[in-house]
Amino acid sequence: MKVQEFDPAVVGCGASALLDALEVQRAAFNADMVPTAAVRRERLGRLQAMVADNEPAILDAINADFGGRARQEMVLTELFVVLSAIRQQRRKLGRWMRPRRVATPLHMLPGSSQIMPQPLGVIGNIVPWNYPCQLALVPAAAALAAGNRVMIKPSELTPAFSRLLAQLAAKYFAPAELAVIEGGVEVSRDFAALPFDHLIFTGSTTVGRQVAVAAAHNLTPVTLELGGKSPAIIDESCDLAESAPRLAFGKLFNAGQTCVAPDYALVPRARVEEFVREVSAAAAAMYPQFAGNEQYTSIISERHHARLQQLVQDAEQQGARVVRLGGTGAGAAGERRMAPVLLLDVTPEMAVMREEIFGPLLPVVPYDTLQQAIAFINQRERPLALYWFGRERRNCTKVLHSTISGGVTINDALWHAAQENLPFGGVGASGTGAYHGEHGFLAFSKQKPIYRQARLNGFGLFRPPYGRVFDTLADFLKRHM
Ligand code: NAD
Repeated sequence: MKVQEFDPAVVGCGASALLDALEVQRAAFNADMVPTAAVRRERLGRLQAMVADNEPAILDAINADFGGRARQEMVLTELFVVLSAIRQQRRKLGRWMRPRRVATPLHMLPGSSQIMPQPLGVIGNIVPWNYPCQLALVPAAAALAAGNRVMIKPSELTPAFSRLLAQLAAKYFAPAELAVIEGGVEVSRDFAALPFDHLIFTGSTTVGRQVAVAAAHNLTPVTLELGGKSPAIIDESCDLAESAPRLAFGKLFNAGQTCVAPDYALVPRARVEEFVREVSAAAAAMYPQFAGNEQYTSIISERHHARLQQLVQDAEQQGARVVRLGGTGAGAAGERRMAPVLLLDVTPEMAVMREEIFGPLLPVVPYDTLQQAIAFINQRERPLALYWFGRERRNCTKVLHSTISGGVTINDALWHAAQENLPFGGVGASGTGAYHGEHGFLAFSKQKPIYRQARLNGFGLFRPPYGRVFDTLADFLKRHM
């Protein structure tokens, strides 16, 4: 199959067509294994233009897929974050791609050592629905900056955006540079089984496990950007009037459909009622009403909407106290904007405390001592994010030292994920590897170590036949080097 004959916008692409698409990219990569900085910048320039020239179409498509998504949130997370990441990669790649000298130990002198970043080849990127543009293109920008080819599989739950992305990719890129593969879960499955040089998957922990297994068959290295239950700790020293709006923002942004959204709150027992009051007031201040409010995002699908309602019902049936922050207005028929719900008196057995919520529900877990709150977190899988709100630095340090999470924001929510110089990624069940900024460039590069031997050197002393000189040398090295 020739490069130009491959149609990246094939719906329901079969396994052999996928393999052909990969072969096209691999052949092109092999023909130019280390693209110059200028070539990479030009590709990133096209990626930037692809987004900047089509902003309204991108927002419309995502809005349609969600059945209503806050425009301002999209501008921030699907345009600004993407464009800023592309610009950063473009600006910095010249420096990042330069081989770096490293110190050579005395006994290996006068040889010299360096690390040469090298593109890996073809990078696969499997994308979830919740930030469809950002999660398709931020990894793609890092992969292109590092000199790779990229294949993207967007989510079947964002069909309008996936279609648009496939069309735009075909317009701005040769299929050998960047290709978008549309299709359902079966296509994603075939995609994950391709022998990529690196595969980045963003999605749920359950599917992440399956992707890791599929990639293992090819020994394809993976970056797994997964989810989980991210706690927010309200410290005793917390000023709730200041913190509740920040926490509510983190929870209700994209209606809670954010991988790093605070999943549940750990609150000092004596302050639970104050917490409920402050969070309710903060939510009401941001969203005077939820139904029909275009600044409040809808739940992505009927199935997810029903799943969230079911979580509330299950908790209520098992004795949870339900505080609905919905105000009065009922939504139009078929509207999937879901008013937030606080859940009190929850137990670990409730589904809402067992699975990632990924919606506007906030269980409140009271604690008596900080040690108890830390133990609650450590009894569960390692979270993707952790939030701590308070003034008492010693307590903050204690939490930082006693918990392991993908990332942390102190006295706010979500924002560490937006700081592009920080590595973004989970740990344990919330993920493997990291990207963003230089960490993305590194994730999609082979850091090739090179030792250059000097013409005149003492290494002949290490060659057989071994005798007294070798023994003396080895003894000296053992003791002193
Ligand atoms: P998902 O795991 O259901 O699907 C993600 C992608 O995987 C989709 O494109 C889907 O087509 C594909 N897929 C489904 N089955 C597959 C299989 N067997 N093999 C290969 N691919 C398969 O996730 P979702 O519902 O789209 O997204 C929500 C989840 O993503 C949440 O758990 C959230 O926390 C997580 N997430 C994580 C991050 C992060 O950066 N860590 C970011 C956003 C979302």
